[in-house]
Amino acid sequence: MKQKEMLCNACGKALKIENGILKEDAFEAKKQWGFFSKKDATMHSFILCEQCYDKLMASFAIPPAVEEVTEL
Ligand SMILES: [Zn+2]
Repeated sequence: MKQKEMLCNACGKALKIENGILKEDAFEAKKQWGFFSKKDATMHSFILCEQCYDKLMASFAIPPAVEEVTEL
């Protein structure tokens, strides 16, 4: 099965996919907005390449929580 192209939502760059395997790590976000939002019952999702993720994190007042993962 051929994986469809994955594009970074911020810069539009295509992530590297070889033989259907994603060869570049990316940040994937998915959020189903609920009743108390103005986006009631819609699913929002986006992908950021590592460079755009770093740029976004640099704009945060409080950096993201980072934990070391021992099992990959
Ligand atoms: Zn990007």
